[in-house]
Amino acid sequence: MDLRFTPDELAFRDEVRTFFRTALPADIRRKTELGQRLSKEDTVSWQRILNAKGWAVPHWPAEWGGTDWGPVKNYVFREEMQLAPAPDPLSFNVSMVGPVLIAFGTDAQKRHFLPRVANLDYWFCQGFSEPGAGSDLASLRTSARREGDDYVVNGQKIWTSRAHHADWMFCLVRTDPKAKPQAGITYLLIDMKTPGITVRPIPTIDGEHHFNEVFFDDARVPVANRVGEENKGWTYAKFLLGNERTGIARVGASKYRIQRAKELARTIMLGATPLAETPRFREKVADIEVQLKALEITQMRVVCNARKLPPGVQDPASSVLKLKGSELQQAATEILMEVAGPDALALQPEHLWGTATDEPIGPEWGPMIAPDYFYTRAASIYGGSNEIQRNVIAKRLLGL
Ligand SMILES: Cc1cc2nc3c(=O)[nH]c(=O)nc-3n(C[C@H](O)[C@H](O)[C@H](O)COP(=O)(O)OP(=O)(O)OC[C@H]3O[C@@H](n4cnc5c(N)ncnc54)[C@H](O)[C@@H]3O)c2cc1C
Repeated sequence: MDLRFTPDELAFRDEVRTFFRTALPADIRRKTELGQRLSKEDTVSWQRILNAKGWAVPHWPAEWGGTDWGPVKNYVFREEMQLAPAPDPLSFNVSMVGPVLIAFGTDAQKRHFLPRVANLDYWFCQGFSEPGAGSDLASLRTSARREGDDYVVNGQKIWTSRAHHADWMFCLVRTDPKAKPQAGITYLLIDMKTPGITVRPIPTIDGEHHFNEVFFDDARVPVANRVGEENKGWTYAKFLLGNERTGIARVGASKYRIQRAKELARTIMLGATPLAETPRFREKVADIEVQLKALEITQMRVVCNARKLPPGVQDPASSVLKLKGSELQQAATEILMEVAGPDALALQPEHLWGTATDEPIGPEWGPMIAPDYFYTRAASIYGGSNEIQRNVIAKRLLGL
């Protein structure tokens, strides 16, 4: 297997790099470089710039606004985006609900939703997890009872990221309580303005509002907003979760963090020696870089293999990407914490949001380090916890 890029792929990489250099608005680039949080408006405006170029949803079929790049160019595009560093388009839209609609939606649903999903006119959130139904998702209990042309939804979702920004939710509901757990689930698109929906924030350890609890109290959802067949939602959910997992390795993002740690460590003096030149720091960085290289090669292997698999079939090696990818993201943020030292300690949320009018305590990058470190702990939980990935690797890759 030849894992080198072809001349055509190298030319493509230069084109993409130049685009990110010129098209990414300076204020959004600055925020992403510093690790500051983006507002909803930042995310929307950047996705619309990408969409105007035809690059918001490159992995979708050309008919629905995608490209015919294939897996390698898609991979190059994603890596360059993370190295730029540019924000990712909203994954709930482009990697989750969009591909499900393309594969299983009706023509009317595709025509209505897909252009709005690509352009972020509709912001989607993911209503899968419930108290008591996370790793064991099939035990979910939120119910949908058919009444004429509507489903009447009752129950609770949890850990719903960005539900406070969302216009719509793609949601799993139980439509047949008597069937075996996987067989009685339906996939609905729910307008978040529907009466009977309450969104409550859950604050997190980084001092932010990422996710929410969502309650449904007799919320009426038109049957026309069901994706695919009633009671077949588990099939669509599995397809979606496979897509989610492959995107979680984020090799480019870890490379960017390590590069940044090295740059910042040159400015931190330990006596007369810059931190970057101490043997312990160099050893730690080298260890992560070697592992990142191995992960990158594994990712390329998965990308090359994807060409041979039937559409929608997931390579079990994507669990390795999720597992190692999340561990390395965490290791990279740990190095940054070491670099920052006491400068990471002060809680300065207005600097994180780029709304501060005063000077930060310490260097301008200091306030972003600890929140990034704390949030990245979640990478080993979301998208299927790492224990679950180890089970998949043991069974499907190692045959144990
Ligand atoms: C930052 C973040 C954002 C999220 N955003 C969303 C979202 O937008 N929408 C959404 O629907 N969900 C979201 N989630 C939820 C996420 O998908 C779940 O947290 C995840 O699936 C784990 O489920 P749980 O939290 O219920 O933990 P549990 O399933 O209760 O697991 C608890 C612990 O037990 C371990 N465990 C469980 N079963 C096994 C087993 N069979 N073998 C070995 N170990 C096991 C787990 O690995 C974990 O360590 C988000 C989570 C996080 C952290």
